[in-house]
Amino acid sequence: MPSDRPSSFHRVLVIGGGNGGLSVAGRLRRQGVTDIVVVEPRTEHFYKPLFSYIAGGTARAAEVVRDQGAVTPKGVSWIRDAVTGIDPEASSVTLASGATVRYEHLIVCPGIQQDWDAVPGLAEAVSTPEVASNYTLDLAVKTSRLLQGVTRGTVVFAQPPGPASCAGAIQKPMYQACAYWRARGVLDDIRVVLVVPDATVYGVPEVDRELERKIAEYGIELSTASTVAEVDGAARTVLIARSDGRRARRLEYDALVIEPPQSAPDWLAATTLADPGDERRFVEVDPRTLRHRRYPNVWALGDAAATTNSKSGGALRKQTMVLAKNLTAVLRGRRPSAQYDGYGVCPFTVSRSTVVFAEFDDELRLQPSVPFWRGLVRERRLTWFLDRHVLPWVYWNLILQGRA
Ligand SMILES: Cc1cc2nc3c(=O)[nH]c(=O)nc-3n(C[C@H](O)[C@H](O)[C@H](O)COP(=O)(O)OP(=O)(O)OC[C@H]3O[C@@H](n4cnc5c(N)ncnc54)[C@H](O)[C@@H]3O)c2cc1C
Repeated sequence: MPSDRPSSFHRVLVIGGGNGGLSVAGRLRRQGVTDIVVVEPRTEHFYKPLFSYIAGGTARAAEVVRDQGAVTPKGVSWIRDAVTGIDPEASSVTLASGATVRYEHLIVCPGIQQDWDAVPGLAEAVSTPEVASNYTLDLAVKTSRLLQGVTRGTVVFAQPPGPASCAGAIQKPMYQACAYWRARGVLDDIRVVLVVPDATVYGVPEVDRELERKIAEYGIELSTASTVAEVDGAARTVLIARSDGRRARRLEYDALVIEPPQSAPDWLAATTLADPGDERRFVEVDPRTLRHRRYPNVWALGDAAATTNSKSGGALRKQTMVLAKNLTAVLRGRRPSAQYDGYGVCPFTVSRSTVVFAEFDDELRLQPSVPFWRGLVRERRLTWFLDRHVLPWVYWNLILQGRA
């Protein structure tokens, strides 16, 4: 049926101008692909790994924000709009403005959705002074102020079960705060409780050992196989449910720093791109080639893709390389042969000057960036310097332009 809405066609259409979208667009452009368009509603681009440093009081908000237009790779166009639907049969997407955009190839990377409503009481509690998070910039700033003001009482840090962007990142402001409280001589007066969903603190044995050592050093009370099932912001209590058969308990807090439950964006989950057999509804791609299993001109990467790795920006450094190589090959009439190896990373800031740099594959085996240096995972100043100072520079100057 003819439409009076504006319509356009592009060779490569990218949904989402975040970490994955801009860096894959930059790589494709550098490989000679033309007519690449990114659809992105935001005018500001964030470097999220530093949110945890802001929350821990060791970075400033101004360091993590840049103008979206300024970081969009040269030679790549930007449509400032949001995608509301995808019709892979017609190779077209619908935008919030009502326009339709058709494509030869589509790359889907709109990130993950934060479900603040998924825990009863959490959405209301997060607007009270005692509840914060490092998962948005505003809340990271709030966390920093909140934790700096604590001198006694109970502080709860909580990670939800299920998929997450840099799962476990809630621990990072916790260790930084503990180091700060220890330096001020108040750590002994503060009961710090860490609530994690799994049977161990993280799940990679070598990483667990390092984190457990720091947990013991700071005197943190670790509650494994546990989740926050309810928050009462007015009474300042959380209900902690157990998955190991033990009874749920209610805990009073003076501060609560919480990672929200996360899931595939609702509008994306409603499309036919999601795996019909997977209730999590991320985009069904081959986890090695990153090409859609049913629609060969659709690709996905990053937090919105149903890959097997731990979702992180570090994973994207490898994913963007593989996807750009494979898509360029297909555009040139060749078979896509590059394979993503499932690498993921979570740099745990375990003090105000050291990091446990957890790098591992999708079978939770260590995968250090420096080959064979398994000890790289140990608490180090070197990896803190890398994570705090080198990687942000690399992100803004190289990664977003598709150069690293
Ligand atoms: C607190 C925190 C700490 C982290 N720490 C680390 C770390 O230390 N190391 C690490 O490697 N990773 C870390 N990560 C993870 C890393 O930031 C993500 O894995 C990465 O940003 C995912 O990239 P993405 O492109 O998939 O999604 P994003 O970077 O989230 O980008 C998605 C983009 O899509 C846009 N979008 C959303 N909906 C639509 C739509 N309908 N239409 C068009 N565009 C849309 C969004 O506005 C956004 O710009 C952290 C994440 C968080 C939240």
